[in-house]
Amino acid sequence: MSDVSDLIDDQDEDAPDSLEQRGTRGGMDEPSTGPRDGSPTLPLSFFEQLPKTDLHVHLDGSLRLETVVELAREQGVELPSFEIEPLRRAMNLGTNCGSLVEYLKAFDVTLRVMQDAASLFRCAFELAEDAAREGVKYMEVRYAPMLHTRRGLKLTSVVEATLGGLRAAQDVYGIESNLILCGIRNVSPESSLEMAELAVAYKGRGVVGFDLAGAEYDHPAKHHKRAFQLVRDNNINVTIHAGEAYGPESIAQAIHVCGAHRIGHGCRLREDGDLLHYINDHRVALECCPSSNVQTGAVRSLASHPLKFYKDLGLRVTVNTDNRLVTDTTVSKELWLVHTRMGLPLDDIKSIVLAGFKSSFLPFHIKQGFLRKVVPELERFHADGTITPPVSQPSSTPGHTPLPPRVALRS
Ligand SMILES: [Zn+2]
Repeated sequence: MSDVSDLIDDQDEDAPDSLEQRGTRGGMDEPSTGPRDGSPTLPLSFFEQLPKTDLHVHLDGSLRLETVVELAREQGVELPSFEIEPLRRAMNLGTNCGSLVEYLKAFDVTLRVMQDAASLFRCAFELAEDAAREGVKYMEVRYAPMLHTRRGLKLTSVVEATLGGLRAAQDVYGIESNLILCGIRNVSPESSLEMAELAVAYKGRGVVGFDLAGAEYDHPAKHHKRAFQLVRDNNINVTIHAGEAYGPESIAQAIHVCGAHRIGHGCRLREDGDLLHYINDHRVALECCPSSNVQTGAVRSLASHPLKFYKDLGLRVTVNTDNRLVTDTTVSKELWLVHTRMGLPLDDIKSIVLAGFKSSFLPFHIKQGFLRKVVPELERFHADGTITPPVSQPSSTPGHTPLPPRVALRS
């Protein structure tokens, strides 16, 4: 590791393990298997202190439930219940839904209270506040502005209110965030094109990417090709939900027809070895969201999630929340589950964390700046659960000799 630019270009993973080492045991409810290298199992609090990213997080799936209730009362909006626990049950929060279509029903509720600028500002601010409190340093928040115009809000106002909330949180907590705008598969290609035009209008002003979300089955990305052509003609980054509720051909289409630079989920990539190698060779990042994948039925259990398989083969794997409210999770919790349920040791977790910073849709020199800060920061975290205190400024602690880092990063 000679300089930070190498970190971005290099293969960042270990040599492949044999396919036989794929885990197939256990699930979300089963006890921890512990790290496969025999090191101690680390607590959730350890992961909360790691610097990290959240590159795949939906604004409308990541509200606080208390905020949903408060906003509904203020706005006179109907909810299945105004009590927290019954509402949690009615929205299937954190429970297995069995399908992506069922999972998406919770969004019918959250979207009801996100139809004015003040609510969007608040939801964005609180999301960034929650992320900052669990150690997220950089976040890419995605949503489809067209879903927030039911009460006449202009699309530009939707984007600006959301950006305002994210910027306000950055002023208070230092967390940096940008937006990814989404077209929706099961709405019209024309509306996707409108979202693409909006992304072009806000390029360089807080929008860093374009995505296609929504029900995957029967709604191929190629129908929205004009939207992708427009964003690509304007040099805007593309990520696409693919291989979650549909086969690997949806991933091939996302890459080859729509020009995706990252893939949302990619659970079913393991069904096509040739495509898998192509994605590995081109360092196309996978935005894995393990708990969400179990919840929608895309994978049977955490232990059978392909993340570990992908990581062992050298793919660029990132770990994300998808929907903090609907899946009842945080990035720290997802990393902790990867550690405890899939058996990945701390060195692998650090590599995944770095992959998040490397795969962001930030300009190259800004990514380098993040990596220069994050690499030494990660060296303070040790597999025995100890954390070396941050290096103090010499002027503030005369005579203090910082401990040398004990863990070498393998990126
Ligand atoms: Zn998603």
